[in-house]
Amino acid sequence: MTESRAEPTLFERIAAREIPASFVAETDRVIAFRDIAPKAPVHVVVTPKAGTYRDVVELAEGDPGLLAELVAVARSVAEELSDGQFRLVFNTGAAAGQTVFHVHAHVLAGGLEEATLAGE
Ligand code: 5GP
Repeated sequence: MTESRAEPTLFERIAAREIPASFVAETDRVIAFRDIAPKAPVHVVVTPKAGTYRDVVELAEGDPGLLAELVAVARSVAEELSDGQFRLVFNTGAAAGQTVFHVHAHVLAGGLEEATLAGE
């Protein structure tokens, strides 16, 4: 687990409805909303409501059940918004493209042939 933070993360503020987002799923501990800069026809961010863990490695070590819940929400989002097949991406570390240090999965689906998270 990471040390506690002084300020809420961006995704905690989205979970608290302080920042608007297009929500597509919600459970007790997880939210899913459309990415503001989509890289695929379906591009949804799935994240815990709490920003306790910075990345997927911390989450897997600290709360594997919550990681499993993220994957289950990702699957249901892909089933609802596409054909159930999807790419699940956890950018881990700034050099790998992570910009929000509150663990989250990108669910990418539909027409993925040209999709990339590298931003080129
Ligand atoms: P990362 O780069 O950390 O893997 O992913 C962060 C993602 O959050 C990016 O794909 C970015 O487009 C998305 N994002 C950043 N700010 C916002 C926002 O205010 N609203 C939404 N819906 N997505 C955001």
